[in-house]
Amino acid sequence: MDETISRVYVPSVVEEDGNTLGLGCFSSEEVAWQVLRAFLKKSEQMLLTKCSVVVWDIDIVGEEAMTVLSSMECKDCPVCSRRTFWIDVDNFSALCHGTACSAWIEENTVDPEIIDCGWPAIRFLKQNKSIDEAVEALFKLGDKLKSAGVERMANEKAENLISENADEDKPQTT
Ligand SMILES: [Zn+2]
Repeated sequence: MDETISRVYVPSVVEEDGNTLGLGCFSSEEVAWQVLRAFLKKSEQMLLTKCSVVVWDIDIVGEEAMTVLSSMECKDCPVCSRRTFWIDVDNFSALCHGTACSAWIEENTVDPEIIDCGWPAIRFLKQNKSIDEAVEALFKLGDKLKSAGVERMANEKAENLISENADEDKPQTT
């Protein structure tokens, strides 16, 4: 048998300005996913909106040559607020790729009516009746963390913030 490659797997990401970055062209789906996942760790440093893995059949003319295997959208993470929360739109699941976060949402493996969500850093785990409820649970957790953080920084930063705002409020004298 001839080992000619008949299909290739192409992972790509889309930046906020609409620019698409191709991440390569691979003979195995597994490698394509590995490359994509490794790249998504950089989503913290870039503003990405979408990503996908597409299969191309070789030597076929037209759009039938192309099949979208999976596509994901990037949103702000409900917990850490960074633009690192990747949502698989087709079979709903979501994971934050931000450092030290990994907030996630997934269908329960036993009961698909239940939507699980969690945040590994404090072993937070909650079962929800809907995706909306799961997202809300993560937002609530994020809010708690933020208010805790604000209290911690209050002493050192509050003074700076106040003086910065005071400067802005000064009328222009020139
Ligand atoms: Zn996060």
